[in-house]
Amino acid sequence: MLIVKKFGGSSVADKEKIYRVAERCIEDYRQGHDVVVVLSAMGKTTDQLIALAKNINPNPSKRELDMLLATGEQTSVALMSMAMGALGVPSVSLNAFQVAMHTSSAYGNSRFKRIDSQRIRHELDSRKIVIITGFQGVNKYEDVTTLGRGGSDTTAVALAAALKADVCEIFTDVEGIYTADPRVVPNARKLKEITYDEMLELATLGAKVLHNRSVELAKKYGVQLVVRSSLNTAEGTIVKEEVDVESMLISGVAADKNTACIAVIGVKDIPGTAFKIFELLGKKNLNVDNIIQSIGREGTKDISFTIARDDVRDVVSLLEENKNRITAQRIEVDETVAKVSVVGAGMLSNPGVAAKMFEALYSAGINIRMIATSEIRITVLLDEADAEKAMRVVHDQFMED
Ligand code: ASP
Ligand code: MG
Repeated sequence: MLIVKKFGGSSVADKEKIYRVAERCIEDYRQGHDVVVVLSAMGKTTDQLIALAKNINPNPSKRELDMLLATGEQTSVALMSMAMGALGVPSVSLNAFQVAMHTSSAYGNSRFKRIDSQRIRHELDSRKIVIITGFQGVNKYEDVTTLGRGGSDTTAVALAAALKADVCEIFTDVEGIYTADPRVVPNARKLKEITYDEMLELATLGAKVLHNRSVELAKKYGVQLVVRSSLNTAEGTIVKEEVDVESMLISGVAADKNTACIAVIGVKDIPGTAFKIFELLGKKNLNVDNIIQSIGREGTKDISFTIARDDVRDVVSLLEENKNRITAQRIEVDETVAKVSVVGAGMLSNPGVAAKMFEALYSAGINIRMIATSEIRITVLLDEADAEKAMRVVHDQFMED
């Protein structure tokens, strides 16, 4: 078998942990498998490197920032190979440049375009464990790029796809994918399996276990993905195309506090108003979701939407600058909101999921501000202060029967 194993920063945070990971990889190697290991930077290294950069220049060039951040992963792969060396097992560390993991040109948020597998194949054929830097790539200018925070998962899946690996294992400090964050919802359950589509919704909604692009890629190339603990040998959660239909109606409840609500008040009730607002934001790459437009009154209407909290300053100044063009009377911002969502492929064939969710919120006296849905997801916007309670009551409503 060819196995890709990815370990996050907390799994390689110190010497002991590095050795534990090394031993775990060696076990597979000794059974005769080809082993490719993808690593993140040790512990909080990436955060520290960002702080280091900002200390030198509060607004560093994105190219140079990528150059700096990529060193974190390079450190961990080299140390891992040294550990394997000490354990007497042949291994080699490679960075994205050496493999040739080609990405789009954008710094800080690039995407894989093509991966050369020749060098890796060659090293595997000479019976080495191959240890590869997560999170980074190389663009057409032969510059180092990074994939966005948490991007090492995507490196692992992209490699698994390129090498046609039999399995891609993502090791983390939890035992798999849970029906909700166990720190918030104590009776959350570990899922045996989940579909790519459900996982994609959950990853996008702020369940931080997997980088959402890794799930997109896994679905696209049919990569068998397993999320499991780096601390024990528990089975973990399998992410795949289809799961047992008699499984639960919903597979997860997630909350996302990185959200803010913007209301554009008193715009003219004429064609083109929404277009003008969202075109402005789109051109600046500012992501918007959950849009609501009020019913018109006296020739005006309000348009509200949610954005990531980090984007509030950019969005508000852009809208203020263009207030006349978009015919707005004023812009209101509320940063005390959160999104709570339920996700489940079971919704497709079971009406009434929305009512069930709203009933739980109503019984708990929680007010809903906005509602948005997709085929397999219902999201409500509510007061941030209610988020945890909402997660618990909604989770109970679906899981207790
Ligand atoms: N080291 C990078 C980060 O902290 C990538 C990763 O951990 O996946 O975001
Ligand atoms: Mg991660």
